[in-house]
Amino acid sequence: MVNIVVDHDKCDGCGECISVCPEDVFDLNDEGKSEPVNMDNCSVCCSCVESCPNEAITNDECE
Ligand code: SF4
Ligand code: SF4
Repeated sequence: MVNIVVDHDKCDGCGECISVCPEDVFDLNDEGKSEPVNMDNCSVCCSCVESCPNEAITNDECE
């Protein structure tokens, strides 16, 4: 299973990861920060890691 971490100090809630993820892994929380809510669905395409403008996302299969 992959492990995805969003650094909320870096995330500004732009929503890019939500837009690019083909598996609907992310959602914004009540504070407007991205959360990996469906991590088990991740297909390791690595689009989220590559597209985040703030380099806030770490996916241990996308190093
Ligand atoms: S792309 Fe990066 S900055 Fe934008 S919502 Fe996702 S984690 Fe946050
Ligand atoms: S690696 Fe791809 S499938 Fe996995 S969370 Fe990121 S965008 Fe979604």
